[in-house]
Amino acid sequence: MAEETRSLSERVDELITRVATLERRYTGTLTNQPGQASAGTALCAVPPVPERQFGADVSLERAQLLRLIATKWVNGTILHYYFFQGSPWGADSAQMEVVRRAFAAWKDLGIGLDFKEVSSAGEGEIRIGFLRGDGAWSYIGRDVLDQGQSERTMNLGWDLTQPGEIDTAIHEIGHSLGFPHEHQNPNAGIVWDEEAVYAALAKPPNRWSREKTHWNIIRKIPPDSVEGSNWDPNSVMHYPFEAGLIKEPPQYRNGLHPAPGLSQKDIEQVRFFYPVISNVYPELRPLESQKLSIAAGEQKNYSVIPQATRSYNFRTFGESDTVMVIFEEQNGEMRYLKGADDSGSDLNASFRVRLLKGRRYVLRIRLYYTFAGGDTAVIMS
Ligand SMILES: [Zn+2]
Repeated sequence: MAEETRSLSERVDELITRVATLERRYTGTLTNQPGQASAGTALCAVPPVPERQFGADVSLERAQLLRLIATKWVNGTILHYYFFQGSPWGADSAQMEVVRRAFAAWKDLGIGLDFKEVSSAGEGEIRIGFLRGDGAWSYIGRDVLDQGQSERTMNLGWDLTQPGEIDTAIHEIGHSLGFPHEHQNPNAGIVWDEEAVYAALAKPPNRWSREKTHWNIIRKIPPDSVEGSNWDPNSVMHYPFEAGLIKEPPQYRNGLHPAPGLSQKDIEQVRFFYPVISNVYPELRPLESQKLSIAAGEQKNYSVIPQATRSYNFRTFGESDTVMVIFEEQNGEMRYLKGADDSGSDLNASFRVRLLKGRRYVLRIRLYYTFAGGDTAVIMS
């Protein structure tokens, strides 16, 4: 964009970026190397979204599981990512290359999700900008679907080619896969010196409001595992913290510095929600119900090979919350066709969809929650 046509707000944004860069240089934290916690470390700020509310009949345990699993993708989904080009959100190819390597770092763990770069914003569920001065952030998992198709779902607002900065991209992609901040895990038992936290984050380069700091640090979010597992201070989804912000546990009073890269528990978590899946599934046939027999968070997959071209009904039954999605195989790639989510309601997931004879479809069902002793099954008719 020509200098004279740039708006005042763009110039102000650029000035803020330059000042922040100078301040980071001054405080010696220009590289933002993960683990290098100090007052000058720029941190990821997840955009606020309304928390899902449930009726009084939904127990606390069920609501926690629903909130946890609701942001996760159905395993086997191909997530398409798009890089904005040119002003104001584009970046040079070196930045994009770091992000490609960060996607590969997740994929190389052996997971059932796939990532594919696309060349138009309309094709991308994940849309990535690199606006300097706008920090690093991403919406969480399926929340990206609620954003405008020409909007960013992720921003990477500083130089990713610096040593260790690939972890920023890995962290933001972790959000896009549905993983929240680990330091907000209520199992962590962190007791903050809240006023010190607000004061530290109000300083450059973050300059966060109290609301932003509350949303990203102080607020407790549902446990990061369906088993309610322990806190992982080395998670790539955990911030570094300088001394004086954490009161308890006492060993972190002098600061907390997560180890670089993905932790063992990060790897276990992503493999739990997105295990490698084969393309060979039991076949679901009309009027033969299939018992799901899975635990919360797990997924069952079925092949559907219609013997006639017509509309079919798919329905789960039993006392449970499920998300059910059907994909059509097109040129070897699974394309989303239709889905239903009955979580938090008394209804069962169901939809009606027209299927073509001679095509192959895959039905994927993830269980959020099942009531004690209740069986869940699926039927096609
Ligand atoms: Zn984050």
